[in-house]
Amino acid sequence: MLSYRHAFHAGNHADVLKHTVQIALLRYLNQKDKPYTYVDTHAGAGVYSLVEGYATKNAEFTGGIARLWHDTDLPEALADYVDVIHQFNPDGELRYYPGSPACALQVMREQDKARLFELHSSDSKLLIDNMEHYGRQAQVDVGDGFGGIKAVLPPPSRRGLVLIDPPYEDKGDYQRVIDALGEGLKRFATGTYAIWYPQLQREEARTLPARLKMLPAKSWLHVALSVQTPSPDGFGMYGSGMFILNPPWTLHDTLKPVMPLLAKKLAQDAGARYVLDFHENAAG
Ligand code: SAM
Repeated sequence: MLSYRHAFHAGNHADVLKHTVQIALLRYLNQKDKPYTYVDTHAGAGVYSLVEGYATKNAEFTGGIARLWHDTDLPEALADYVDVIHQFNPDGELRYYPGSPACALQVMREQDKARLFELHSSDSKLLIDNMEHYGRQAQVDVGDGFGGIKAVLPPPSRRGLVLIDPPYEDKGDYQRVIDALGEGLKRFATGTYAIWYPQLQREEARTLPARLKMLPAKSWLHVALSVQTPSPDGFGMYGSGMFILNPPWTLHDTLKPVMPLLAKKLAQDAGARYVLDFHENAAG
């Protein structure tokens, strides 16, 4: 039984980091005409209302996208992300937040394809409705995205980005991420894989980046944003990270001006900080 609904969290600090990186990765793929496939293993509902329903409950977006909404002097990649969100709110009032499938399709060209997996019965219905507008460019599969990797890789054009963004409510998700990436890299070694993870004090979350670094990719980039000091009781998410296997070589420089600004603007207390590391494996 799935209980996680992304609508509660839409537009929060974790979405800001995730979608800023996701859009930068797609912009890089857009530099060549050759088509690519975007795979979203845990797609969510696609678009969320910020003015009614679940998102209003804790109004998490007020600590995320809302803090950047009126800024006009942002570093390029962050300005690009905020501009994409503005495209879903053409009158300038922040009412809708596009999830990863909608952010992606807003940036992709007509020759590119999206394969979107969502397991939750209600969110998959919403996703199908929200993606209808994109026609055959967006294919929704109601099913397990970890398993979906096997079905869709390698993409026909051998160019692609895979976003893996599970809820991690079930701690088995940490191992499933590692296993799915093992499969993915076997089938599509040159693909770019972006994995979102929560910063939590539980062992599985703390050790995930180290385990991802061991995977047989040519290079990796690790970017993480903590918005607060971890709580002394050991509970709660204090930030999140994106781990990218086979990142574009430009991504590190792209994120350099972004991360200090995010750590400042999205800080919830003096414990806010960021990590930005890039590594190339000698043997590849
Ligand atoms: N990627 C989305 C975004 O950025 O807008 C948010 C995704 S949310 C963090 C995780 C989603 O994964 C939830 O909608 C949940 O229902 C779905 N889910 C959970 N287990 C899944 C599985 N094994 N395969 C596909 N989707 C799953």
